[in-house]
This record gives sequence, C-alpha cells and structure tokens, in this order.
Amino acid sequence: MSTGVEASRRATAPTSPGRVGDVRRRNLSLILHQLGLSGQTTRARLAADTGLTKASVSSLVADLVSAGLVMEVGLNRAAERGRPGLGVALNTAAAALGLEINVDYMAAGVLNLAGDLQFHQVVEQHNAGKDPEEVLGRLTELAGQALQQAEAAGLTVHAGGLAVPGLVDTASGRVLNAPNIGWRNVDIAEWAASLVPEGILGTAVFNEANSAALAELWYGHGRGMGNYLFISGEVGIGGGIIIDSGLFAGPGGNAGEIGHIVVDPEGPECSCGGSGCLERYAGQDAVFVRAGIEGGNDAERMAALLEALEDGDEQALAAVRRAGHYLGVAASSTFRLLDIDAAVLGGNFATLERWITPAFHASVEEHAPAVLAADDVVVSGLGRQAALMGAAGSRIRTVIEHPHLLLKQH
Ligand SMILES: [Zn+2]
Repeated sequence: MSTGVEASRRATAPTSPGRVGDVRRRNLSLILHQLGLSGQTTRARLAADTGLTKASVSSLVADLVSAGLVMEVGLNRAAERGRPGLGVALNTAAAALGLEINVDYMAAGVLNLAGDLQFHQVVEQHNAGKDPEEVLGRLTELAGQALQQAEAAGLTVHAGGLAVPGLVDTASGRVLNAPNIGWRNVDIAEWAASLVPEGILGTAVFNEANSAALAELWYGHGRGMGNYLFISGEVGIGGGIIIDSGLFAGPGGNAGEIGHIVVDPEGPECSCGGSGCLERYAGQDAVFVRAGIEGGNDAERMAALLEALEDGDEQALAAVRRAGHYLGVAASSTFRLLDIDAAVLGGNFATLERWITPAFHASVEEHAPAVLAADDVVVSGLGRQAALMGAAGSRIRTVIEHPHLLLKQH
C-alpha cells in the first residue's frame, strides 16, 4: 500500500533551494503529517508508512531538520528491535503565537508543532468601545511578553493567529464587523505584518468562535467527533460548524453565527441590527439582567451568578434555564438544517454546565425530538485557551501543509 505522492508521479523534483517542486512540496508535507500521526518514529518506518523510498525520506527529513521542523531524537531501540536507529519527531521548538481579543479580556499563548500550549496569559480588560489602535497596542505588549518567553525557552515562532469576536476577512486582514467590541471595517493587516518579527508567515486574523470550534476538534473534547455544532457563550454567542472533521466556514468564512439566529421575531433589537436574536436571550448580559445581578465587572458578575445558583436562588436558576431554553431553540433548527446531532458547549456555557445543560437538552428534545442523545452534548475543557489555540493551531496547520515556505534559502 502506497500513500506517497512519489509512487504515482515519478517526476524528478528540483531540489535546489528556492525552487522546490510540487511533488517535493507535497512529500515534505506528507512527512510532517505522518510524524503528527505517529509521533516519534524512524526513517525506515516513515518510508513504510508513506510509501516513499528510504532515500527520499532521508532527503526530505534532512530538509525538514534544517528548517527546524523535524528533530533527531536519539536511539529508538523499541521501534527497531535489533537495529537501533536514529529516531525522528516533530520539532517541538517550532511554534505559533495565538492571540485573542474578546469583550472583557485579551489573551496570548504559544503553541508548538505538536499542539502543546507552552504559555498562556489572560488579561482582564474591557475592550468594548475602545479605539482599536489602543486595544492593538495593549495586545502588542502582551504578544511581546509571550514571544520573549518563547525565545527564552528556545522556541522559534513562525507565525501568529489572532481570534476576534466578529466577522473577519482573513485574506485581507480586516475585521469587518465585531459589534460587541464596536469594531467595523478595521484594517489590521499592517499591524499583523510586524507582530512576529521572526515569523515569515505573518499573523492572520480569524473569527473567535470558529477558532475555538477547531481547537475542540484538534486538541479538545471534539477529537473523535467528526460532526458537531460548537456554541460558545460570552457577552456574545459564537458558533462553529464542524462537518467531516473540518470547519464549515461558508463562502465568506463566517458561517456559524448562531448568536444571531432569530429565536423570537417580536424580540428586542440586537447589536447586529436585527432583532430577537439568541444573543439577547442567552448572552451573559441578558442572563445577568434576568438573574437580577448588577454592578461589578463581568468576572465579578459571573462569580455572583454562580454563587446564587449554588444557593438555589430561584431568580438566578430561572434566568439560566431560560437561556438554556432559547439556546435549545436555536440549536434545534441548526441541527435539523445541517443534519448534525452533537454539540460542544464552550465559554460561559461550560462554566454554567450544571444548570444550563439540562435546560438545553429539554429544549432540543421539545423542538427537535430524538435528535440528541444524552451523550451528544459535551462541554469544553479548554476554557479561555480555546480561541487562541485554534488561531495558533490554524497557523501550525499552515506550516504542516506548506513546510517548503520555511526551507532555508542558501
Ligand atoms: Zn443579532
């Protein structure tokens, strides 16, 4: 069985740096993919697993080692009994920077090629209505601290990914509309280009909920679930649609906006310009108001809500039940529309799991009977790391898909 591109196309790829042929490009990527699947292995096993010749594997691995993407890992006696060989693995010193701007916090972290989060820092900060330049300035400081830590730990950061709570155009580096932080048509391409000085792949901007949905798929409880709806509750409600183990992002890259599904045509106006959106019923501000919780910042209000729920406060319980009910209304239509039968709940919905999940289940059972089984709803374990892990993880994917971009030019 041969999975190597080489086996079907025996074209001789030019090996001179700067002119890496298509076949060699694909085979470089194939080696990284295989190392991601198998972990530490040998060149001989890589050849067997990919269908490439041992000579090809050795040459490809040599390029990837010099690019800092693969590392030698010493003798590997267990894998090659009787014939100890030098093992190879993904180079865990290769990394991507992940960043998130949200309504009431910003965060930075560094994710290595193997998908391990090396650093993670969250700063509570109110970003709504602030000048984008001011917010990006603060984020630059936070990113600088993460990059310093990465450098001190011997990591090489090749790229950055930023998650924002709104509609984005990744290709042009624009935040089109992020109503909860008040950004409309903000061009961050120039800012992004200079953020990671050593990273020739630059920094890309992504939708926060789509990033978090992918983080669940790659690193979280979505692993092994090929199809699900990710729903994340914050000030806004974000969604991400995972179909066939990939993100369904839609033609403009912004599918999954479940927070702006209409759950009551007669409902109140929404920040998106519409009315009766789910966000007005299950977003955290709506829940705080219903629960009668006032004053303090968002973290303090959430703490007060949790305390009231623990105490069995009927007004707080009813507020969260109501949020779960409307969440179920929106999800039921989505499950039916997309033929999806599982959900991953993140953000505050994960924090409120004990109280909101039963109401969510009951609502889906009422509006879309027999679609969801009890174990079809799982709660995120990634917390506030999810979006930045997804944004950084998308850049790690770019490295794995296009490693030739990092080959040393001699
Ligand atoms: Zn809306």
